Amino acid sequence: MFAGKIINRVNNRDDEDLLTVRSNDFSEKQLAEVALAIQNRWEVPTFVKMHEVVVIDEDIDDRARQDLAKHFETGLFTVLENLGLAWAFKIEKMSNAKFKLNRIPGSVLPRWMTEIEEPSVLPDGVFECPHCGKRFPTDIQLSLHTKLHYLA
Ligand SMILES: [Zn+2]
Repeated sequence: MFAGKIINRVNNRDDEDLLTVRSNDFSEKQLAEVALAIQNRWEVPTFVKMHEVVVIDEDIDDRARQDLAKHFETGLFTVLENLGLAWAFKIEKMSNAKFKLNRIPGSVLPRWMTEIEEPSVLPDGVFECPHCGKRFPTDIQLSLHTKLHYLA
């Protein structure tokens, strides 16, 4: 499981990139949520690089690799649905390994996208779900809860 761990990689080594999802319409924090959802869905390592979510070709077995190759596009749509983004973005397939998310003009963005940009004003010991606003006394409980938003 790579859940909850976004890998920050500074070096740009494209030869290790398995899949990329590009979008110019997300902030880095917002893209990190998309990266986390992809990571949780396929249990693959992802990271955010500029305007891209990158799935790294690391510790991925052949079955998972085939699944990603065959079903990534439909799976990505489900990920967008779960994040409330399916009506705001259209998936454009650039190549077998490169996808782009294009904002649909006039579309409404989900609440979490603006909330995630706001500085947290929560009191100590309160952890709030960025998707639904539910609050928890520990970050562990929050992270368990947050995963529910990503289940298909
Ligand atoms: Zn929630």
